[in-house]
Amino acid sequence: MSLFQVPPPTRFDLRFSIVGIPVRVHPLFWLIAILFGSSANSILGVLTWVIAIFISILIHELGHALAMRRYGQGSQIILHFAGGLTVPESVSWGGGYAQVAITPNQQIFISLAGPFSGFLFAILILAASAAAGGTVVPNFLLGFIPFPMVFLPIGGAVVNSFVLSLLWVNIFWGFINLMPVHPLDGGTVTRYVLIQTDPWNGLRTSLWVSVITGAAIAIAGLVFLRSTYMAFLFGLLAFQSYQALQGSGGRY
Ligand SMILES: [Zn+2]
Repeated sequence: MSLFQVPPPTRFDLRFSIVGIPVRVHPLFWLIAILFGSSANSILGVLTWVIAIFISILIHELGHALAMRRYGQGSQIILHFAGGLTVPESVSWGGGYAQVAITPNQQIFISLAGPFSGFLFAILILAASAAAGGTVVPNFLLGFIPFPMVFLPIGGAVVNSFVLSLLWVNIFWGFINLMPVHPLDGGTVTRYVLIQTDPWNGLRTSLWVSVITGAAIAIAGLVFLRSTYMAFLFGLLAFQSYQALQGSGGRY
């Protein structure tokens, strides 16, 4: 079982469409978003987190979806318990169904479009904050992940924490997503880069990169960020990549 499988539709799904792309939100998405925000000390604080996570994951997935559209590939966005997914939709083709052929370089662009639409959104938030008379203070997490602090003179604590939550999710999670660990976006980029440079062993090498980087991030997350969540997530992803290597019988 994969952590990123598509959950079946339920009657509690929220369905809408944005710029012509259908979106489905599984009920467990809200539950996990509330758990993430549960450290906030008020209902308003939790609600702020949930909305920030919802907007940020939607923008990330829209980046993937619009990049797919650029290559003629239709898609559907699903928000579920482990984040978001953009699933390519099959098109009817000569009596059957087929997907548009996507080249490795197009696939790399599609993967990068997710995190980078988040970075772009963060830049827009910073620009809007500065325009509203806010103070933007450059700041780095762990010494290398940009995490600017913003202080707005308007809106009070709620608006300020909303803006910081949006920046946090879009920048920090964007960086996390770019790590070369399968099936994160960075893992997909690594896979298609290595397959092109080494068609014979590229896939296998990308899985080994995934195992080693995943394990290293799990340990670093626990030691430096004291995050059992990061340790669990990356430990699991590293283990899944290791299993994929074993299950291939050496064919990768
Ligand atoms: Zn993504």
